[in-house]
Amino acid sequence: MRAEILTIGDELCRGEIVDTNSSYLADKLWDLGITTRWMTSCTDDEPDMRTAFAQALGRADIILCSGGLGPTEDDLTVDVTSALAGVAPVVDETARDRMLARFAKVPAFLSTTGQERDNLLAIQLRQVRVPTGARVFKNPVGLAPGFEVTLQGIPVICLPGVPREIYGIYDAGLEARLAELREQGERGPIERIARQIYRVFGRGESQISQACRGLVDGVPGASIHYQVKFPETLVKLVVRDPSREVAAARLATLEAGLRERLAGVLYGTGQENLVEVVTRRLIEGGQTVATAESCTGGMIGELLTRMPGSSRAFQGGAIVYSNAEKTRQLGVQEVTLREHGAVSEAVVREMAAGAKARFAVDHAVAVSGIAGPDGGTPEKPVGTTWIAVASPGGVVTKLVQWPGQRDQNRTLAAWWALKLLGDAIQ
Ligand code: ATP
Ligand code: MG
Repeated sequence: MRAEILTIGDELCRGEIVDTNSSYLADKLWDLGITTRWMTSCTDDEPDMRTAFAQALGRADIILCSGGLGPTEDDLTVDVTSALAGVAPVVDETARDRMLARFAKVPAFLSTTGQERDNLLAIQLRQVRVPTGARVFKNPVGLAPGFEVTLQGIPVICLPGVPREIYGIYDAGLEARLAELREQGERGPIERIARQIYRVFGRGESQISQACRGLVDGVPGASIHYQVKFPETLVKLVVRDPSREVAAARLATLEAGLRERLAGVLYGTGQENLVEVVTRRLIEGGQTVATAESCTGGMIGELLTRMPGSSRAFQGGAIVYSNAEKTRQLGVQEVTLREHGAVSEAVVREMAAGAKARFAVDHAVAVSGIAGPDGGTPEKPVGTTWIAVASPGGVVTKLVQWPGQRDQNRTLAAWWALKLLGDAIQ
């Protein structure tokens, strides 16, 4: 089944907002086994919308569109789809009642009377209209409902532009309807999909794909995909088969192979990223952590305080950018700094030890590096970063050398610190 996603809006075409609706919908369709073949965006202009619909109707088996369902004059999706269906727009009574109930709680609306109130209502009613005969999708988050009309025999599903309203509609009924449409529209046996996302940090995309070469070869219906989400890489395994069980079994076998090939760098699955994995592990293990940061200037502390509940693990940190502060706050010896330089294994060891003692924690993470663009030398080029993690089991250190831009080097240093910390609490 070939889908087209059509996003409508002047703001989109002017570059003022990024089209996240298409990627959200395409991802959901992919889960359901519907392939998005085209993504189109057009302005709120009626002729442009008509052209975009005509084009999509000429090539797709199903069309999902977002935007233009609001109350204002420039919201034309209901009018255009009604005209294409040859019907009039009508007010959906359920959506209208919900809207009125919502307004009944707004003091500004209640205080209006007479003509003013009628005018206001007339405008607001625009957004609860649907084409006559359309299938309506409840919008649990906002006011404008989604709807489905059939144009030239093709299902066309129209959704509001606001992303969280789309998510709400999807969960409240659209997903079930799409699954139904897919079963109806499929020629031949329905394929079930087993898929998983594997999260990898510590190796580049090309090295990862090299390590995975041949993994899915000869496995029917299987494919492997890579997505760089700097600084990590997502590896996705997908298996399609008419039998759900067969697809799941093949995925399990592939997963075992993948884990073997990416041992040490594959740190998790699904939506949970490294920051969440490490914070969760600390909290679950009842362990505490502190930071000693030079080139990352507090980024590791920021990462370790992102999750709710992180106060149970994170105690504090020292940002020690200058040599003097490394000595003053963490007790790094002047002789160590003089003999090895601030970016050295000896110094991060002392920084980690100092932070562990000062904050009285189970783990202390220390980072010192050359973020760039200046400050590099032949022995210590830009991107050279030393990391140390002091834990009950001892101190682990790592040298990272990756010649990136300043912001990339800093992000990479912070994530490496998390990675080593995560390994230390296993
Ligand atoms: P409204 O009632 O707000 O007018 P609408 O259904 O008419 O809703 P739009 O006016 O097209 O939708 O968009 C409303 C807001 O939703 C935009 O200002 C934008 O913030 C967001 N939005 C719209 N389209 C997209 C998109 N494709 N991707 C991400 N966000 C979007
Ligand atoms: Mg709008």
